[in-house]
Amino acid sequence: MFLLPRLAAAAAVFVVQLPLSGAALSASPPPLIDPQNSPSRETAPRAGTPGAAAIVAAKTKELPAKDSPEQMRQRLVDALSAADGKSTGAGAAAKTLQIVNRREPASQPATAVRTAAPAAPPRAGAEPMALVPGSTARLAAVQRLDAERRETTHGAAAHAHGAPKWAYDGPSGPHAWADLKPEYATCASGQRQSPIDLRDGLKLQLEPIGFNYAPSSIRVVDTGHTIQVNVGAGNWIEVMGRRFELQQFHFHKPSEERIDGRRFDMDAHLVHRDADGRLAIVAVLLSRGAAQPLIQTVWNNLPLEKGSDQLVGAAVDLNALLPTARGYFAYMGSLTEPPCTEDVLWLVMKSPVEISPQQIAIFDRLYPMNARPVQATAGRMIKESE
Ligand SMILES: [Zn+2]
Repeated sequence: MFLLPRLAAAAAVFVVQLPLSGAALSASPPPLIDPQNSPSRETAPRAGTPGAAAIVAAKTKELPAKDSPEQMRQRLVDALSAADGKSTGAGAAAKTLQIVNRREPASQPATAVRTAAPAAPPRAGAEPMALVPGSTARLAAVQRLDAERRETTHGAAAHAHGAPKWAYDGPSGPHAWADLKPEYATCASGQRQSPIDLRDGLKLQLEPIGFNYAPSSIRVVDTGHTIQVNVGAGNWIEVMGRRFELQQFHFHKPSEERIDGRRFDMDAHLVHRDADGRLAIVAVLLSRGAAQPLIQTVWNNLPLEKGSDQLVGAAVDLNALLPTARGYFAYMGSLTEPPCTEDVLWLVMKSPVEISPQQIAIFDRLYPMNARPVQATAGRMIKESE
């Protein structure tokens, strides 16, 4: 009885979703904080990188043919990367349509449809009550809907091609970020960009960073660019007379920061914000060695799908992520991903924390490379603990 409105609504969902990305699974988790000029923008969920998706897809072939939850997720990633790579074809677009329709409730408001006016809302001449099963009227209505959906599909695919999402490699890689959207212009024009190679710092008796982390609930999110851990309230640092509240932390592989040219296996960025909205990011370098218990807890709670999140039941002590020695570098930089906003206080811990090869390999399966290249220091002052 409600076939027609349901189909129309499904088409509406499709039109709304597809322009967001080729990888329709990268639905945005709710932003933790103000999306403008905020740390969540540094890790804002976007489309998966085509290159990374291809590597993940290639790696999937090495997996045993067993029906684990991880494999179910990998198959979804595969399907999406296939659709991503061939989205000019109607077949691939239809595949994406199936995935979107399967995952999204058909309850998106019709007002959200901008490019597919013919598909929604249902017209007066197509009243559900007139659709008697098997009648010619019903057949004609279904055929008309099919035709409309094909048109919609092509239109949406073309739209998606016009707005590529940023990535870590390929045509939407770091060299092209500034060209993707006007609000990303700072990625190319900025004079205080991050990350940098930390060297020739002024060795000073820097006041220790006041870490005030307490056992907290955490929520693990796969943003499509990294694994991010959203942290409950009550964790803060005090530095240079200002207090910054921890918002989230996330990971890069390999490390974005370098120290005297040396790159580390991975890093963790702990993103803090003060009452005025200013950002302070603590970078913890991760180096191959013993297993890291807190990271293991995060990995154990990886969400099965990009864009979804998973709450960790037990409280987690975030001090476990910090090195014992608390010397650090300090400099002014930017977010390391679009929109590359500047005026970020960077605090890079000098001593790395160990992470096991197995733990690195797990992240590598999801994000083999998600590090921005180092940027010009351009005469910036770098302070360093003695
Ligand atoms: Zn980061």
